Amino acid sequence: NKRVILKRYVTGFPSEEDMEVVIGDAPLMAVPAGSEAVVVKNLYISCDPYMRNRMTRHEVPSYVTDYVPGEVLTNYGVMKVISSGHPDFKAGDLVWGITGWEGYTLIDNPESLSKINHPDLPLSYYTGVLGLPGLTAYAGFFEICKPKKGDYVFISAASGAVGQIVGQLAKITGCYVIGSAGSDEKCNHPEHNISRSRNTCCHWATGCCSLQGEASSASAVWLWAASAVWPVAGVVRVGGGVVGGGGAASVVWLWPASAVWPVAGVVRTVRVDGIGGVVVNLLKTKFGFDDAFNYKKELDLDAALKRYFPEGIDIYFENVGGATLDAVLPNMRLRGRIAACGMISQYNLANPDGVHNLFYIVTKRLRMEGFLVFDYNEMYHRFEEETAAYLKEGKITYVEDVVVGLDAAPAALIGLFTGRNVGKQLVAVSQE
Ligand code: NDP
Repeated sequence: NKRVILKRYVTGFPSEEDMEVVIGDAPLMAVPAGSEAVVVKNLYISCDPYMRNRMTRHEVPSYVTDYVPGEVLTNYGVMKVISSGHPDFKAGDLVWGITGWEGYTLIDNPESLSKINHPDLPLSYYTGVLGLPGLTAYAGFFEICKPKKGDYVFISAASGAVGQIVGQLAKITGCYVIGSAGSDEKCNHPEHNISRSRNTCCHWATGCCSLQGEASSASAVWLWAASAVWPVAGVVRVGGGVVGGGGAASVVWLWPASAVWPVAGVVRTVRVDGIGGVVVNLLKTKFGFDDAFNYKKELDLDAALKRYFPEGIDIYFENVGGATLDAVLPNMRLRGRIAACGMISQYNLANPDGVHNLFYIVTKRLRMEGFLVFDYNEMYHRFEEETAAYLKEGKITYVEDVVVGLDAAPAALIGLFTGRNVGKQLVAVSQE
């Protein structure tokens, strides 16, 4: 049973060496007699920024429990029940909930698991748009921000798991929406204004890839085998602009047609609506934001916000904190609302950045409210039904960044803190 354990508590930026992929004991494939536990096979696991907090040893208890060195990491995932002693579950059920970063997990409290109600959508969606990040976006936007048609909305980390959903909900509500993200490709690269249909770029059987006019060095295309949920053949082509580099050289991974599972190497796919897609122009072209900017290229964030919001911001969906929050505060409109969802720029700092502009909360009569998604669990069913309908009607587009295999999980997790992920980061652990 391969598993990812925490090797040591983390200070500062996490590294792959803080975790270790080990081979554990053979998995328990049947629940002990009389037990109400279930054994699950893990299909997809989610990488989330809050896991960084759990990697620190807290003297005063945090809002989530600390991981323990030597023990398997845990987080939300999508699983198949292999064996059940619980009356509500049977072998073969598809569920989502907290599980281990390992092949198989014995879950003592199956009451914490939820059934997959929309198996016609990609199962991985329950780590994201139909799971906790989606509920975070939905509850944070509607309950905290109280949006009205015509509101000016700004979202940071806008192309990520939460941000991409907030932006699209804001557009559905009739707001004017601008997002920031950390690369041109995530925003709207001026050289890549070609929106292509999902079927034009790859022949799954040959794995050939034609870039069709996107041949500039910065182009980045991931292709997912057209047959589907799992790659049986295909090409992954990664341009320098997205996977951590800026170089002109492209890297090409070939997936042998005969392979059923990668034994070596990293396979990473960005999927748009469940299928391999083009990763450029996310915020504007894919998600329909009114505008977007690369915050790493804006040396003066205050000036950028004044340019993008000449009349000010009604709603700020806060995902990053620090300098971004500081620049947003003076640009808020009177009685604006800020949903404090997260502050990822601060998670690895020993001394958080100073925010100097807090007095604007007083003078502009702002309401800034923090929230945790767990506060809104009772909204889950309504959220799930509405969101599933939007997905099926094509009103919400969803981008996820899938790495294959537990060996790739540590790098995927720490990539959240450098912006390596394009959309929701998750790990495909085993075949459905
Ligand atoms: P994302 O998918 O958005 O991934 C994190 C992104 O944050 C990165 O891709 C990167 O994008 C951006 N980022 C990383 N470091 C920095 C930095 N120093 N400055 C600015 N941006 C940075 O993650 P999620 O959507 O899962 O989470 C978004 C936020 O929501 C996080 O703060 C998270 O903690 C919070 N959250 C809160 C919840 C709650 O209950 N309140 C629940 C779930 C998430 P880029 O390329 O744009 O820099």
